[in-house]
Amino acid sequence: MLLVLPTAVLGGLLWRQLEEDHQTLMAAAPGDTADAARRLLDALEHRVRDLVDREGLRPFYHYKKSYFPPGTIGSDLAFVPSPLATGPAPEGIQAWFTYSFGSRGVPDTEIFAGGRDRDPAWPDRHAALESATVALALHDRGENWFSRIARLGAVRVDLLPLPVAAVNASQEQDIDCMRSELHALKELQDESQDVQVFSFHLRFYREEDGTPRVVASRRVIIESNKRLRGMPSCFENLAWGMHQVQGFFIDPDWLFARLPATLANQVLDPSQEFVAAGTGPSGAQLLGGRSKHQAGAVGAEIRPVKELGLETYAPEDENFGRMRVMVDTGDLEARFRSQTLHFLGLAAMLVFSLGTGLALLLRSVRRDLEAAQRTENFVAAVTHELRTPLSAIRMHGEMLQDGWVKDDSKRQEYYRRIVRETDRLETLVERVLEKSRLSTGDARPEPGDLNEIVEGLGPALLGTGTEQPARDVVFDLAPDLPETLIVPDGVRSIVTNLVENARKYAPVREDVPGAEPIRVVTLRVDGEPALEVRDRGPGIPREEHAHIFDAFYRVGNETTRTSKGTGLGLHLVALHCRAMGARIQALDREGGGTVFRVTFRRAGGEERLTQAS
Ligand code: ADP
Repeated sequence: MLLVLPTAVLGGLLWRQLEEDHQTLMAAAPGDTADAARRLLDALEHRVRDLVDREGLRPFYHYKKSYFPPGTIGSDLAFVPSPLATGPAPEGIQAWFTYSFGSRGVPDTEIFAGGRDRDPAWPDRHAALESATVALALHDRGENWFSRIARLGAVRVDLLPLPVAAVNASQEQDIDCMRSELHALKELQDESQDVQVFSFHLRFYREEDGTPRVVASRRVIIESNKRLRGMPSCFENLAWGMHQVQGFFIDPDWLFARLPATLANQVLDPSQEFVAAGTGPSGAQLLGGRSKHQAGAVGAEIRPVKELGLETYAPEDENFGRMRVMVDTGDLEARFRSQTLHFLGLAAMLVFSLGTGLALLLRSVRRDLEAAQRTENFVAAVTHELRTPLSAIRMHGEMLQDGWVKDDSKRQEYYRRIVRETDRLETLVERVLEKSRLSTGDARPEPGDLNEIVEGLGPALLGTGTEQPARDVVFDLAPDLPETLIVPDGVRSIVTNLVENARKYAPVREDVPGAEPIRVVTLRVDGEPALEVRDRGPGIPREEHAHIFDAFYRVGNETTRTSKGTGLGLHLVALHCRAMGARIQALDREGGGTVFRVTFRRAGGEERLTQAS
């Protein structure tokens, strides 16, 4: 109880804790995904803003193949190749563009590859981007002024030396013209020119064929400057002011798939999964069609187009590139199931070990109790066995001493009784001593003739030569027994004990005609030499067979038993057998009675064993 109760209580508490943890996790899953989705969106927004901010810092004149940097005006015009043309392009940018409308109303566009023009796929991409830019220009031009104003955003005014602004704003490709006018420009060096650069505006739309476009665009305005009127043609356009749209195309695949996937790796928990719709035309369906997460999955959705604040032309475009943060509650369930199994396994093991422990404890307690009971029985038996002869000796002795016995033959009879009782006492003491000797001794069996030893016991057992030799025991010895490993005294003790027991528990009724005597037999059992003592007594109940060789064990109860004994006889037999490496068995005899069989080892067998080893 001391062990089981705390274990059960502890187990119950642990189980409850496990269940509660699981429920908490399950309940937290939707909230967790919403948080994770927010973190992911924040990260995405941060990266896009970062890209746009950095692009916003570019001076307007980077949007040319080469430009004239401020502060370098000298004897010549030193043009520097624009980073937009040479690259490298920041990740996510497909290309830069500019457009403006000349007097003819046809958009004047230019695309900057950012160094990608060496790519074999570039000509195709360039053509697509070029037509996208023309379409964009025409779209913007067709819009009402309100939409255009709404797109303008914050303005930054860059103050540039007039010659720098003039050269860079010039649409003229003829550098010679500019060079020839260098001196005129130098005179204007102290004059400055305002350049209004508006902030980038982001929009998402689909072209007619469905191609998604993410466009960042800004306006650059240089007001007309009268100082430049009358200048050579290569500068003249600035005299009328400049109005240009600059911008870049953001790769939709990067924005809606690659970038969020990378960010998801950084911001999501391992239990959460990022699912992007992709940017193909079937993107939206793809999201709905995922099979892994259909059952037991909770998720939070991100609509990047809407949530990043991209302008759209059509409401359904707001759904483009939807993505989800999923958590598979199936995983949680599976984890809970495996934890439950673990727990149950552990509990089963605990119950098993507790059960085994208790069983072992009970067995050992029972054994101890049995041993104590046997010792008690022994003490009772020994006391009894000691007392009976002692009181008989004392009684007969006193009677003789006091001269009460007058009859001579009676006196002789008393003397005989005293001697017999003394023998009994001696036997008892010897048995106890023999037991302790055998328990500690190390007798070594040696090859010998079993028949010879058994035969030698005949006179003592039968009282041969006395007035009344016993006829209740017959010897039946097999003639050709092999040499046997024996300890002669051990064999004598075995035979004597077994015959004594047979006489005690299965006495031969000599008055009954045809009564079968006790048989002492030597024979071969499976080739091995063996000895049997057979009687026609009441037999020994099967359930007692396992116990009768235990020390002090006696069948039945000490108080109800009629025969005298100490429970040591068969124990001594078993100890002798063990010392010789022999095997003792109690068997039911056919037709009634008991057979005690001792199977010895052949001497040759041991030699063979020794040689083999
Ligand atoms: P003891 O004879 O001193 O009681 P043993 O160890 O010699 O002790 O025998 C143990 C028990 O086995 C006896 O109490 C007896 O009940 C039973 N027993 C021994 N030999 C025989 C036999 N030949 N027939 C029936 N019972 C026997």
